[in-house]
Amino acid sequence: MAFVRDNLKENRLFRKFRHEVGRAVADFSLIEEGDRVAVAVSGGKDSYTLLLLLDELRRRAPVDFEIVALTVDSGYRGFRTDIIESFVTSLGIRCHIEKTNHFEIISEKRREGSSYCSFCARLKRGVLYGLADRFGCNKLALGHHSDDFIETLLLNQFFVGSLKAMSARMLADNGETTVIRPLVYVSEADIRTFAREAALPVVCCCCPVCGTADVQRKRMKTLLTELEKDIPHIKSSLLRALSNVHPRHLLDSSLRNG
Ligand code: SF4
Repeated sequence: MAFVRDNLKENRLFRKFRHEVGRAVADFSLIEEGDRVAVAVSGGKDSYTLLLLLDELRRRAPVDFEIVALTVDSGYRGFRTDIIESFVTSLGIRCHIEKTNHFEIISEKRREGSSYCSFCARLKRGVLYGLADRFGCNKLALGHHSDDFIETLLLNQFFVGSLKAMSARMLADNGETTVIRPLVYVSEADIRTFAREAALPVVCCCCPVCGTADVQRKRMKTLLTELEKDIPHIKSSLLRALSNVHPRHLLDSSLRNG
């Protein structure tokens, strides 16, 4: 089944996503007049969904903004950038593929036992900041969904001893690019179903760990799935907790007020 953009209008999940992304945009002022937004497109279900939603928003929103799709080719053999490029350009969106030697760097420099993904993602993020700048984009949109926020919250508490998750809008370390995450209210399960229904041309990144979540992240996913059987609303409660913080009831003395 080929992807047909017109079918999106009839798709129940896409309509739900539009509502969720609209809420995120309003809650965190994610899109503003005159923005030029670089959308990181990996060829996975999340980034394609993000691209389609931002494109839809661009057509309907009362503010004028532009989008450019950026893909980082890390050099994993078999990565089908041609499929990504033809999908993105078929939508009428400008697409840039940046070739890198990340695979070689990771193979040479990664310490035994350290996370493949975090090294790879760090390298990619650096390239994306540079590209956003090169293409005159003031914002970089990433496809993290609500499950990513929740799992990161748990990972930091379980393994790092820190109470933090992700930000829906944050100035990057380069001090210039604002990173935005418009899918903060969209669940991974819905994206998975949508990607299947819409026949998105998902491609494998072809890295050595492709398709297998980081071990610790996988543990969080399994834990949440187990807990969800008894506490069906656990994920929405955890996500809500991130916007309902009571610093006086925490132990961080730098947050103490009185
Ligand atoms: S899944 Fe593969 S391509 Fe994606 S961040 Fe991890 S190592 Fe990199």
